[in-house]
Amino acid sequence: MRKSKQEENLFESERNGRQKKNKVPITDKRLLATWRDACLKRAGNKCEYPNCRIQYTQLQAHHIYSRRGVSTRYLLENSIALCPFHHTMSSLSAHHDPDFKSILIENGVRTEQFFQELRIERNRTQKNNDSWKEFCYQKLMEAL
Ligand SMILES: [Zn+2]
Repeated sequence: MRKSKQEENLFESERNGRQKKNKVPITDKRLLATWRDACLKRAGNKCEYPNCRIQYTQLQAHHIYSRRGVSTRYLLENSIALCPFHHTMSSLSAHHDPDFKSILIENGVRTEQFFQELRIERNRTQKNNDSWKEFCYQKLMEAL
């Protein structure tokens, strides 16, 4: 399934290369789907919460900083793969535990420096224009 998707993307970039002037802009939906795929792949398709023992059927990609922030919205660095329990469902989840980041740092899942760098990027003003989306899309495709 992944292979055919890659082939499809390859075809599309070839097609775009031939018609650079009236290139079809990448949609948010497509970018976020690519962001999710890259996140899960990087995580080895496992929940990244320390010592997760949950029996889950579905793995989700969480935005460390809210996806409302354009500068970090499509960054692979701003993602973490989580099972539903550690994403949104439990009091220990990313959406409910105010100490979630600290737990990641204490357990070596991410470093303090990593969060500092991500915070700098989050505070950068960025317009959500087509060239930004294209740039982010290419970066994500490199990770797939
Ligand atoms: Zn989990």
